[in-house]
Amino acid sequence: MTDAITLLGTKGGPAIRPGSSMPTAILVQMAGQTVLVDAGLGCTSALARAGVTLTDLDAVLITHLHSDHYLELGPLLHTAWTAGLKTPLPIHAPEGLNTYWQGFLASMAFDIETRIADEGRPDLASLAPIHVLDETTTLRMGDLTVTALRNHHPPIEDSFALKLTGAGKTVVLSGDTAPLPEMVDFAKGADLLVHEAMLIPGVQKIVDRMGYKDDRLLKHILRSHTPAEEAAKIARKAGVKALALNHLIPADDPGITAKDWLHATEPHYSGAIHVGQDGMKIPL
Ligand SMILES: [Zn+2]
Ligand SMILES: [Zn+2]
Repeated sequence: MTDAITLLGTKGGPAIRPGSSMPTAILVQMAGQTVLVDAGLGCTSALARAGVTLTDLDAVLITHLHSDHYLELGPLLHTAWTAGLKTPLPIHAPEGLNTYWQGFLASMAFDIETRIADEGRPDLASLAPIHVLDETTTLRMGDLTVTALRNHHPPIEDSFALKLTGAGKTVVLSGDTAPLPEMVDFAKGADLLVHEAMLIPGVQKIVDRMGYKDDRLLKHILRSHTPAEEAAKIARKAGVKALALNHLIPADDPGITAKDWLHATEPHYSGAIHVGQDGMKIPL
């Protein structure tokens, strides 16, 4: 297996419309480990399309509890279970995920109990141990090490960037965040920085289209996300070898193409820039 990062879902935010890409999910294949970071809508079928057998996942990491990052976690785990999951698949997520997981199990209790009794399956509840992820976390999975950095994504406080190191490579995933000065050190010299990005003129168009009466959505987007230009500056200051733009806002505006993203970022960063697309595999 070649070490690679696959951007399974590259859209920022939870709503999908005809022609839009899908919410966040990132497949990490490094140092012999297969890890899913975030489980937005569509992640299960995207994993299958990327050639991943669900029972081969080694862990699932959730960066924060906005729905576009974990809405499909329950269906993913349930589907891995029906695909033959027998050994626990650890979930690492900020405080609070257990409420979702217990609620999901309760909502599917009839099906789960039926399959246990009728098909002899193990208990799903025991197959997804949940561990709290925060900035003190260091995960060691074989030769892969994962550390976390608290980022800035108001009003959510427990929101994290992740650094994955193994087999001589380092990848940093920004998570959802406003421009964060600490990201420069955290991503120093990484082989790849996957950073969230927005194009400000496009953001105003999204908000206009939603037709809300006040400007809270606009304010939320602007104070908790990173303009593409700033993502590129962080990549330059960190000296990363490549930058992938992800969690794109907007993601379903036919008037905005890869050219616009490159136009915003190339003046600030001279390394390789990948403009995220669902299913894009970036070898390390
Ligand atoms: Zn998000
Ligand atoms: Zn978010």
